[in-house]
Amino acid sequence: MTLYINTPLLRSQSNSVRLGKTVWLKMEALQPSGSFKLRGISYACSWHLERGAKHFVSSSGGNAGLAVAYCGRMLDVPVTVVVPESTSARARALIELEGASLVVYGKSWAEANAYAMSLLTEHTAFIHPFDDPLLWEGHATLIDEVAQAGVKPGSVLLSVGGGGLLCGVLTGMMRNGWGDVPLVAVETDGAACYSASVAEGKPVSLPEITSIATSLGARSPCQKAVDWAKRHPIRSEVVSDAAAVAACLRLLDEHRVLVEPACGAALAALDHDVQELNAGADVLVVVCGGVCSTVADLLAWRPT
Ligand SMILES: *Cc1c(COP(=O)(O)O)cnc(C)c1O
Repeated sequence: MTLYINTPLLRSQSNSVRLGKTVWLKMEALQPSGSFKLRGISYACSWHLERGAKHFVSSSGGNAGLAVAYCGRMLDVPVTVVVPESTSARARALIELEGASLVVYGKSWAEANAYAMSLLTEHTAFIHPFDDPLLWEGHATLIDEVAQAGVKPGSVLLSVGGGGLLCGVLTGMMRNGWGDVPLVAVETDGAACYSASVAEGKPVSLPEITSIATSLGARSPCQKAVDWAKRHPIRSEVVSDAAAVAACLRLLDEHRVLVEPACGAALAALDHDVQELNAGADVLVVVCGGVCSTVADLLAWRPT
């Protein structure tokens, strides 16, 4: 059973006219769970189910936890999501709406994650939010769909948190003969562990996350994402929270779709004058989505 959908590929007239080049939007925000995470997580959940898993466990209070909860409901497998006390009421409600059991444990994600690990048994599968080749295999299908639509862009623009999306998109690019297409990886100031890690040549850990783009808030990226920067033309870009929020509001006005600042970050970088984005006549933006912020949140974050 395929749990994710083949999302629309929009040629954005507003962005194309503004930037003077064709801007393609791959609308992952329209996945049933609200983000691209469903691709990789459904692949991982199905893989574990075929091998006898009877229970899925996640420790993400964001889009990854929600995607696991969605897969559990669709596959009829019980799901437990362990989140720290800091998880928003909205995120808790969305996970419970999917029928998952929500356990609130500890002050930090590390405490919640340690508790989630203590629940694992022989028949339980732990679903990681970004560092797992099974996820990357599933995320890669978004590039397969673009290639099947007959589009090979001059560059690809996406957001990076822990690097699962980046690893998956690059897997898809390689298997579709896009090895020459540069990738622009965007994060927000205060969550910029990828740019710090690429500069060091190895994963480095941020002391704290200060950005509102919480879905980009991995303290450090996975090793594989950093390794990719040595094998493929990858440009790391950092935008402000304010620019990410403004880009979310612009997408809402122009395309009538609500996304999180984590996704707005990639859209904001369209306005950066980077060589990689000028590499060809067109650019593909992965509109990765996210359900964790409301219109009221975006308006409250908008700088006055
Ligand atoms: C998870 C997520 C990201 C970051 O993805 P990584 O695989 O951690 O790099 C970006 N945007 C949204 C909306 C997400 O849910």
